[in-house]
Amino acid sequence: MVLLPHALVGAAIGAAVRNPVLGFCLGILSHHLMDAFPHVDYGSRVIAKSGPRFLGRRPDLKPDSPRRFDETFWKILFVDFTVAWSIFLWIFYRLPSDLWLSVFFGTFGSLLPDVLSFYPPLTRVFVKKYRIAAFIANIHNFFHWGLPIKGIFWGVFWQILFAGSALYYLIKIIR
Ligand SMILES: [Zn+2]
Repeated sequence: MVLLPHALVGAAIGAAVRNPVLGFCLGILSHHLMDAFPHVDYGSRVIAKSGPRFLGRRPDLKPDSPRRFDETFWKILFVDFTVAWSIFLWIFYRLPSDLWLSVFFGTFGSLLPDVLSFYPPLTRVFVKKYRIAAFIANIHNFFHWGLPIKGIFWGVFWQILFAGSALYYLIKIIR
């Protein structure tokens, strides 16, 4: 999934458990559970036919795949990041300070699997060096149901539902 729903769900978990360590662990768990729902994300443009590994299938990639880190990729990342960043500035502005650490680590945990799996310099270094990073990257590949762009309805449905529910919960806390 894209950055925004993961970050919001991680923040909501952090706010709910009020414990940075537990928030961090549940944040990581939430990432994999959410990725198991069919979704479109940064990899969708290279997928021809989708199939999650946890259902015993494999995604077919397009033979003429666009380069993964091309201009469109960076544009989408910029919008995703800017929206998430703006919402988080507002959340932290309103959030009681005793929840800051917990919300920060919940969010950090919820984003970590994507950082480890998709940012190539990090992936190479960490996955080689640390078993835990390789383990998280493997789990990430296994519990990931990426759809091609044509599956856009279900591709965004779950992401809007997750992001909306988490935001609703956070607004109730910080209001
Ligand atoms: Zn992911």
